[in-house]
Order: sequence, then structure tokens, then C-alpha cells
Amino acid sequence: EDDEESYYRFMKENPNAGVGVLAAGSDDEDLVGGGGVHTEYDDDGNPLPSNAKKLIDPLPMIYHSEINYAPFERNFYTEHAEIKALSSAAVVDLRRRLNLRVSGPSPPKPVTSFAHFGFDEVLMRAIRKLEYTQPTPIQAQAIPAALSGRDLIGIAKTGSGKTAAFIWPLLVHILDQPALAPGDGPIGVILAPTRELSQQIYAEAKRFAKPYGITVVCAYGGGSKYEQSQDLEAGAEIVVATPGRMIDFVKAKATNFLRTTYLVLDEADRMFDMGFEVQVRSICNHVRPDRQTLMFSATFKKRIEKLARDVLTDPIRIVQGEIGDANADITQDVHVFRSGSSEKWDWLLANLVGFTSSGSLLIFVTKKANAVEL
Ligand code: AMP
Repeated sequence: EDDEESYYRFMKENPNAGVGVLAAGSDDEDLVGGGGVHTEYDDDGNPLPSNAKKLIDPLPMIYHSEINYAPFERNFYTEHAEIKALSSAAVVDLRRRLNLRVSGPSPPKPVTSFAHFGFDEVLMRAIRKLEYTQPTPIQAQAIPAALSGRDLIGIAKTGSGKTAAFIWPLLVHILDQPALAPGDGPIGVILAPTRELSQQIYAEAKRFAKPYGITVVCAYGGGSKYEQSQDLEAGAEIVVATPGRMIDFVKAKATNFLRTTYLVLDEADRMFDMGFEVQVRSICNHVRPDRQTLMFSATFKKRIEKLARDVLTDPIRIVQGEIGDANADITQDVHVFRSGSSEKWDWLLANLVGFTSSGSLLIFVTKKANAVEL
């Protein structure tokens, strides 16, 4: 049972969880019907993260040297004449205009038009139908890298067009490979932290895969295990999954990574925040080491950097926009109050009516006790 799955089960078994007020003298265990799942608090009254997710064991060790993997082609990129003609000064200028910072061994030049990718007519028609006029900045740089078969780490946000940046090259990659035989696992595996994100990626992948007759399956915690495993067993070139559920299915032999040559870790930082690090690493270790790996993250903290070093080979690092900057549509207004004084309460009381008459107000506090007081 993975993180999300256990949450949905818990909510089903305890429909009143979080709704009722604790009766005097009862403890959390009573509230949840003694099911053994309850929130623990530290000395300050702050909830401790559940350790339920630790219950998913990673996959067992695998010896890749004992497996006979078929060779595969990874480079499908031919630089367009217009791009070839760009001087290095023009490349620097273009990257500046696209707000891109690129590092790593010999990265390809960014492009400026869909025509520069060399996609076939089927994919171009699908893109035209959506009325996309030009590649987004992350696509302009990441797609030439991905089509060349390179590993990459992209620091880009949701809304940057990063999903298409890994889906389109994946389709080109899949089309070059022999069709799936019965019992074959996916060629492309995409890991995402949540059910919502995996469903979004699934919808986008399906839209572009359909004209090629390429099958996509979505496997996430909380969804029907039976249906998902039936879909996997029927065969799919692309699987979009949350890490815990992916591991479950490999253990249950509903699928395998023997054909997997393209691995994507989307929102890697959020997968870490949710406690999936062990599972993600375990999946990476289970896919043939010469695979192509693409990793996306909104931030680039130490742990992400370490993961990138461990699972990527000579990656190209692409940063689009400013790391960790705030959404430009949000105004941030910082007030600092002396602790221990009544300043912050006075300020809050004086502004409460104004705030709530123009919209809603969300207040964060540190401790459970503060929440009660507030
Ligand atoms: P993502 O960052 O992948 O969540 O994508 C954000 C949205 O941008 C999605 O709705 C995509 O369909 C859309 N999108 C992706 N690429 C482009 C493009 N080149 N031009 C316009 N919209 C795009």
C-alpha cells in the first residue's frame, strides 16, 4: 500500500476523520476507530509525518549484467540548417532571451521554431491542432537535448511546457523500437509524485500518442489496482505512475522494466518531499543502466543534486526562469513583528475585516496550540 492508497483507504474507513471534534478524554485512536493509523504529535503539538509510506519495500537487488538487453538507438536529432548557422554569440543571446541557463558537456543549441525539431507530419499535425505557435523556452532547449539521447535535468515549473518537452522525444524514441511482444513492459516510464499530476501527464501523453497507436497507462495509488494491472498486462509503451504503485506492479509481475530505455522523473523535489526517495532510487536501479533519463524539478536543492549525480549520466542542466521565484501574479508583502508583543494580534484585528471583505484569508501557524488559540 503506498502513501496515497493508504490515505484513501483510511478516509473510506473513517469518513468522519478530521470532521469531528475530539470528545473530552478520548484520544486520537478512538476517533479513528482503533484502526492503528493515527496522527502523532511532537512535544510542541505539531503533527509528525506518517511513517505509513515506509511500509513499501523497495524492489529487490537486480543484476543487470545477467540480463541480455537488446541495443537501442538514442540519437534522433539532426541540427536544422538555420540552427547550424547560429554563431556562438547568437546562441548566448538566444538563451538570454529565453531566460535559459545551460551547463553540462556539449549541450545542443536551443531552437526557435517547431520546424527545427524535425518531427514527422503526424506529430506536427497534433501540435498544430492545439494551436501552439512556437516551442516554450524549456522545450526550445530540452527537446534538442532529449532527441539527441542525452540525459538532462530541467529546472522548470508547471506551466512551462515541460510535459510536452519529455513526451514528444519519447514518442520519437518509441517509434524507432520493435513493437511490444506479449509480456513486454513499457519503453517509457514516467514517475510523478501525485495522482493528480500523473493523470495530467497521462492526458497529455495520450493526446499525442493516440495518432501513432501508442498505448499509455496511468497507475497511481488510490486507483483500482485490478483495472490498472489489467491495462499493464495488456501492454503499453508508456506508463505514467506514482512510485509506490509502480513498485507494487513490478513486484506483482504485472509489468517489468526489461524494455524500458527512457525514464522520466517529474517533479522530483515533490517526490522527495512526499518521502518517495527510496522508491524512486529503487526504480532507477531497476532500469537498465544505459537508459536515457530525464529529471524535472521546480527547485534544485542538495538532495536533488545528489539524485541527479547518482541516476543521470553526463547530464545537460537546463534552468529556465529563476529558481524558486514566486508567481509574478502574486504580490508578497512582508511585515515583521516583535515576538512576545501584541503587535501581530493588533495588526491582524485591524486588518481582518478589510481582508475578508475583499476575499478569503488563509493563516498559517506553527503549532496545534496556536491554531486553537487563533
Ligand atoms: P506543463 O508545464 O507541461 O504543465 O504545460 C503547461 C500547458 O502549456 C499545458 O496545458 C500544455 O498543453 C501547454 N503547452 C505546452 N507546450 C506549449 C507550447 N509550445 N505552446 C503553447 N502551449 C503549450
